[in-house]
Amino acid sequence: MFYKHKNNALFTLNDMMKHEDGIVSHQLKVLILEKSNLSALLSNPIEYLKGVGPLRADMLKKELEIFTFGDLLFHFPYRHLDRTKVQMIGQITPQMDQVQVRGILIHMEIVGERRSKRLVAQLRDRTGIIELTWFQGITWVQKALNLGAEYLVFGKLGFFLGKPQITHPELEPVQVENATGKEFLEPVYPVTEKLKARGLNGRAIGKLTQQLFLLLSEKDFPENLPPAIVSSEKFMSRWDALRNIHFPPTSMHKDEAMVRIKFEEFFVAQLRLGMLRSARHRFSHGVVFSKVGDYFNQFYHEHLPFELTNAQKRVLKEIRVDMGTGKQMNRLLQGDVGSGKTVVALMSMLIAIDNGYQACLMAPTEILARQHYDNFSSLLAPLELKVEILTGSTKAAEKRRILESIKTGVCKVIIGTHALIEETVQFEKLGLAVIDEQHKFGVAQRAKLWQKSTIPPHVLVMTATPIPRTLAMTAYGDLDYSVIDELPPGRKPIHTVHRLDDARPQVMDFIKTEIASGRQIYFIFPLIEESEKLQYEDLMQGYENVKAWFPEPQYWISMVHGRMNADQKEVNMQRFVRNDTQIMVGTTVIEVGVNVPNASVMVIESAEKFGLSQLHQLRGRVGRGSEKSYCILLSGSKVGREAKDRLSVMCATNDGFKIAEKDLELRGPGDIQGTRQSGVMNFRLANIVEDRGILEKAKSCVDVILKEDPDLTSPSHSMLKNFLKEDQAKNAWGKIS
Ligand code: ADP
Ligand code: MG
Repeated sequence: MFYKHKNNALFTLNDMMKHEDGIVSHQLKVLILEKSNLSALLSNPIEYLKGVGPLRADMLKKELEIFTFGDLLFHFPYRHLDRTKVQMIGQITPQMDQVQVRGILIHMEIVGERRSKRLVAQLRDRTGIIELTWFQGITWVQKALNLGAEYLVFGKLGFFLGKPQITHPELEPVQVENATGKEFLEPVYPVTEKLKARGLNGRAIGKLTQQLFLLLSEKDFPENLPPAIVSSEKFMSRWDALRNIHFPPTSMHKDEAMVRIKFEEFFVAQLRLGMLRSARHRFSHGVVFSKVGDYFNQFYHEHLPFELTNAQKRVLKEIRVDMGTGKQMNRLLQGDVGSGKTVVALMSMLIAIDNGYQACLMAPTEILARQHYDNFSSLLAPLELKVEILTGSTKAAEKRRILESIKTGVCKVIIGTHALIEETVQFEKLGLAVIDEQHKFGVAQRAKLWQKSTIPPHVLVMTATPIPRTLAMTAYGDLDYSVIDELPPGRKPIHTVHRLDDARPQVMDFIKTEIASGRQIYFIFPLIEESEKLQYEDLMQGYENVKAWFPEPQYWISMVHGRMNADQKEVNMQRFVRNDTQIMVGTTVIEVGVNVPNASVMVIESAEKFGLSQLHQLRGRVGRGSEKSYCILLSGSKVGREAKDRLSVMCATNDGFKIAEKDLELRGPGDIQGTRQSGVMNFRLANIVEDRGILEKAKSCVDVILKEDPDLTSPSHSMLKNFLKEDQAKNAWGKIS
């Protein structure tokens, strides 16, 4: 895909992706990356710290990635041993969640065999006995513990046959100096088993950290937050927060320090994303779409097959305004499955064409591109707008013809897959690029789309399913954001049930009655990696099973999977679309976007193997017509707790926004597809699920600041600006932009 340079040279999307310094990132560098004056002390190699030495330094680097004094300082304890809160064993009740007890180890033995083999020990205090159990590392634990010694034990409380017990507890020998009854909180640091075995346990790390604090003073940690925020939020100073996160005198100190540091993490990340966004608004150049013209108006007034929802109208307006500003648009469009994002994309593309530009739409799969092509072709036929499609399987002669018509500007609307990014694709005048079903493309590709050195096209990114607000704020915080929060009228919720495999006969009977009344059915099998042979065989077996229930010639079955070539896929897909086949057996190849309104039942085999957003996306393939639709989640009887949670969420709600929140909650922020590489999720302490309140607060503080002082030139922001500079140098933040 080529864009016209200011001096009329053509260049491709690929060139632009390779290009490092876009206008925006350049401006930002001027803004925050002048000269770094990182505190010299903190960048000292860790082996220079008293008590470390080369051997320990080596281990710290390998096991914990602690290379410098600063790294050690930011290696935070994951909890504190509260010597002041020890429960008496005799007073433990089942209501308690976690307990800390102190007592003498009086018994140890290995019981059970093979998988149930475990180490069982008993700890006694004045009031009773508690059982401790290990299933892993048995030999190691047994060797490390001493019968008759006194231990402080912490862990999650369980009850077995009415007796209290802890599985895999944390144990610390009670040392004489600690046993004085003096109250204090002791930090417990994350360490690896290897470090422990070499004597570098949590306590040893604590000693090193204490050692390090002796060398530091407040001037090594100047305040970085604006004074107004520190005072309005009643935050402790940065220096106090760092000390209290390691060595708090009371748990209240620790909690306050945690809040302050989490806030700071969110605040800095939000500030960066906000500055990127604001720099783009101020410095980037975009093509100006000054008018809405005939194509748009004619389509809107004469050929639009339905009334737009209010949400669609609002979003279209946001996009139209954006594209008229002379700045490049980078907008994320969110909406639930079936909320009608496609028509919004199409009408945005018409605005580009009205202004004399070309527009393209990139889809993640061939099937989806084909479907958009059919849909666009028929919708745009009355406007006499020719649509072209370009995919990996476009034949050579046809491809030559299409490339020529794109290059000369004859073709205004082009739909395609990744093939659109190839260097051979040259546009005469591209004004808008729409990327459908964003999660298939990945954040990195998106981020690179706009760091270009010349006038890039407007970009509209559409998500397949909603993204939780907190995630949108962190992973996509540099984009502007539109949301379609309303479904077209008349949609009926899809009735969703979870059935065990042994209910198959009833499920098949139900499907037969649906087919008898003219409806169509999807059977989806998990096939995560197209190359995995075993899963492929599973799919074939599944196909045979379905065939056994639904024999020809009464029933006809289509099948689509990733190992087929494009033609085979297309033939099978079209037979299903034309209702020549009543059943579609497939993999997640058909997950996104496919639209067959007559299909009324989605059966998902081994549903426990799918993630929540995938399940929701698959379910969205039915319920597209006026008839009642069903989603049947099949699983074996042995399903893990998390999978069970997912299935019950699916049965409980059709709301993609709720499902997205739940998904994030269940999986945790570290695991969300396509966001890891963005760099913005790597918070040390903060967690976008648990600390969402703090995130919201940080975001609103940042919004206020950037509105008043987008370049951070005010004296009250000078410390902040300095901090960003240093931190940028330290973390090579440039990776993301
Ligand atoms: P998604 O947001 O999942 O991409 P689509 O754009 O595929 O959803 O739209 C789903 C279906 O809803 C399509 O068949 C489309 O024609 C239809 N549709 C879109 N907008 C409206 C509307 N305002 N009123 C009625 N039907 C609509
Ligand atoms: Mg879609």
